[in-house]
Amino acid sequence: MALDVAWAVRWVRLTAGLVTEHRAYLTELDRQIGDNDHGENLYRGYTAVVARLDALEGPPAQVGDVLKLVATTLMSTVGGAAGPLYGTAYLRAAKVTGLDELDAGAVVAMLEAGLEGIVARGKAVPGEKTMVDAWSPAVAAAQAACVEGVDPVVVLEAAATAAEEGAVATDPMVATKGRASYLGERSAGHRDPGAASSALLVRAAHTAAVDGA
Ligand code: ADP
Ligand code: MG
Repeated sequence: MALDVAWAVRWVRLTAGLVTEHRAYLTELDRQIGDNDHGENLYRGYTAVVARLDALEGPPAQVGDVLKLVATTLMSTVGGAAGPLYGTAYLRAAKVTGLDELDAGAVVAMLEAGLEGIVARGKAVPGEKTMVDAWSPAVAAAQAACVEGVDPVVVLEAAATAAEEGAVATDPMVATKGRASYLGERSAGHRDPGAASSALLVRAAHTAAVDGA
């Protein structure tokens, strides 16, 4: 299935659905090592995103236009750490997806740009128990999967699986960035909420590519 603007809209709506479904779970993860609001923050943000998509007169022109709408909406509605981090990720991703359709290389470029945005904003490196620990393996897996002639959906699948594994791999980590770092060693033994929500986001990109809405 083509990774066109209709796919981008399906992706974003699917992410909103997953965030709603996992709202309590994400907040519970944040209760354990943060301030008990990650699911609520994202639910508020993606609800606003869906409202803005519903209010559009016609479909956006290109994939990047959809991602830009998400970026500006999340930045103005989510607050906390995750709002600016995700907002910057989507904004950077939007800049490299001013395209009618993404091929495998464009999927890699989009994920790389998203990760760069998160790192530019939050200055975290892998292993600090943040959303970077989901994004970084997702980008590496996408790069590895991006061989000559590969279906871009295969690249998304590799990225989604790696993001999920990356989120699980945050469990034993000791947080050194974000609120969870206030807990020091006591942050170990819990999954990072932002890594968990990032895995949902990347999985949604893949699901939207295999399930036509
Ligand atoms: P807040 O911490 O302000 O309450 P959220 O609860 O919405 O914001 O988001 C927390 C998540 O943000 C963390 O689980 C982590 O993944 C991510 N995060 C926090 N600080 C950073 C950072 N400096 N770099 C990358 N991600 C971060
Ligand atoms: Mg929080």
